[in-house]
Amino acid sequence: MDSASGSCNACGVTGTALMKLSLGKDFFGRTYDRLSPSTDQSPKWYCEGCSMQKNLQRDFRDITAEFDKLGAGQSSQLSNPDEFQRAALRLREIVALLDAAQNFSPLLASGDVKHLLERLNTITIPA
Ligand SMILES: [Zn+2]
Repeated sequence: MDSASGSCNACGVTGTALMKLSLGKDFFGRTYDRLSPSTDQSPKWYCEGCSMQKNLQRDFRDITAEFDKLGAGQSSQLSNPDEFQRAALRLREIVALLDAAQNFSPLLASGDVKHLLERLNTITIPA
């Protein structure tokens, strides 16, 4: 298994402290099924910058999945106006964090997040 002497699974940096990322709960408070290959594959190790971006990527992915369900008319966490509002705020925060990051993110492009935010803004949830 990889260890602290290995390299970051995202950007490949070596010689820095790496942390094994435990994702725990997703953005909507649901617990990850760590045995399910689709949600949590083999444990990965990330440097500090990438582990921060990995958390942003996870939230972005969760919100995208729920938004797609909403668009398809399926039951979605975003049908709840409070969750919808919280998701929109989180996306703005993610864009700000990505734009403020000095290093290029190999995990998440702020353009993708901005695009989702624009799509989100075209939808009105009855309060
Ligand atoms: Zn890294």
